[in-house]
Amino acid sequence: MQTTKKIWALAVATALAAGVQAAGPKYVFMFIGDGMGMPQRMVAEDYSRRSGRGPLAMNALPYQCLTRTASANALITDSAAAATAMACGEKSNNGALGVMPDGRRIESVAEVAKRKGMKVGIVTTVTIVHATPAAFYAHRKNRGESYRIALDLVASGFDFFAGGGVYNKYDDKKDSQYRGNVFDLARAAGYAVVREKGPFLALKPGAGKVWGVFADEGLEFDIDDHSAYPTLKEMVAKGVELLDGPQGFFMMAEGGKVDYAAHANDAATTIKDVIAMDDAVKVACAFAERHPDDTLILVTGDHETGGLAMGFVGTGSKFHIHLLERQKCSTESFMKRIHGMLEKDPGLTFESVKPLVTENFGLIFDASAAKTADDRLLVLSKAEIKELADAFAADVAFVKAKKQETRKHDVRRRQKFAATAKRLLGNHTGVGWSSGSHTAMPTMTNARGCGAERFIGLLENYDVGRRLKELLR
Ligand SMILES: [Zn+2]
Repeated sequence: MQTTKKIWALAVATALAAGVQAAGPKYVFMFIGDGMGMPQRMVAEDYSRRSGRGPLAMNALPYQCLTRTASANALITDSAAAATAMACGEKSNNGALGVMPDGRRIESVAEVAKRKGMKVGIVTTVTIVHATPAAFYAHRKNRGESYRIALDLVASGFDFFAGGGVYNKYDDKKDSQYRGNVFDLARAAGYAVVREKGPFLALKPGAGKVWGVFADEGLEFDIDDHSAYPTLKEMVAKGVELLDGPQGFFMMAEGGKVDYAAHANDAATTIKDVIAMDDAVKVACAFAERHPDDTLILVTGDHETGGLAMGFVGTGSKFHIHLLERQKCSTESFMKRIHGMLEKDPGLTFESVKPLVTENFGLIFDASAAKTADDRLLVLSKAEIKELADAFAADVAFVKAKKQETRKHDVRRRQKFAATAKRLLGNHTGVGWSSGSHTAMPTMTNARGCGAERFIGLLENYDVGRRLKELLR
């Protein structure tokens, strides 16, 4: 035994002395679900199976690890510190992008890939200057510096960007570092800035550097009408088409709106965005079938959001996840629709909007209308109907007062009605939430292909970034 060990050690030492290294992956796909902890993935898994779509591809990747998500200064991380850890391999403070707590710049795995001569793509369903994508190309102490982050995007020289916009900060003349409209700067740096879905999908290999910008802010939730924008799957497929070549590529693709839906404790919307992300993972899996020896696929989340639970006190041990199929739009879009109706007709009554609740959330007001066993699970109690009526009255009062709610993520005060309908459907389904914010639950990372065996066990989130960087060096 000892002899075998010695021979092995000698062989390793000889190989290292001769500069022999195992070849790393040539093609890397890194998928990050924002706010996608283990429960988001497992609720989507259960929903997908029970609704006949089969298991999720992301959960079936053969190697798994759990990752602790604490940042340098908080047990509960924000997206910036989490993305910095996974992109750059170091824990920093909440709010920081690509810099240590002392402001020292840290190289990201995307920058390592670029330096090595690989092509690089960054894709998201939220704004491209949002914390998760930004940690791969930007170096800023404050994630809120949208204009400056966009300057870093242009300076990165990465080959492919696709996703939402730069808020209203793309031409922020008030910024002391103002250098011009960021889209003009990108064009001057050789980017084709593509603003429409059609021309984007028509791009062919050889298009040069591309920045696809499809909205001012994030794209729509998958559950809502998102036909004006490319899906995450379409953006990843286009990225593969444009980045594929002899140098290989690194592509980070974020399902960014999972976090928004989970902040709103909106289970159906969360699930649909996880499944939309899984469709994009399938594009990577199909690519890996063609390049099995040199492709690495990694799917992870930056943190859990909402304290999502599979089981709710009101439904006991019953869990009817398939009932979420009755929800037809996000809480946010339902709220906008109701508020739009109230602005036109302030005299709108609760009676007149009840059919909309049934149509969009499946909830049934009158037990005699319940035809199937599933219907009977969705019949509202008198107390629940009163809750909905009170919530509707609150929305009526809100719209009358024309209050403006600008606090990020805190939309609950202005959408009591939609939020109550969504919560009641969740209760009847058996979905529970413990928070409207991030939690410290670990996230799950799954991997497949070249180097995937490095992602096992219980890791820190920075290990994900470190191991990726090691594989690409
Ligand atoms: Zn996040």
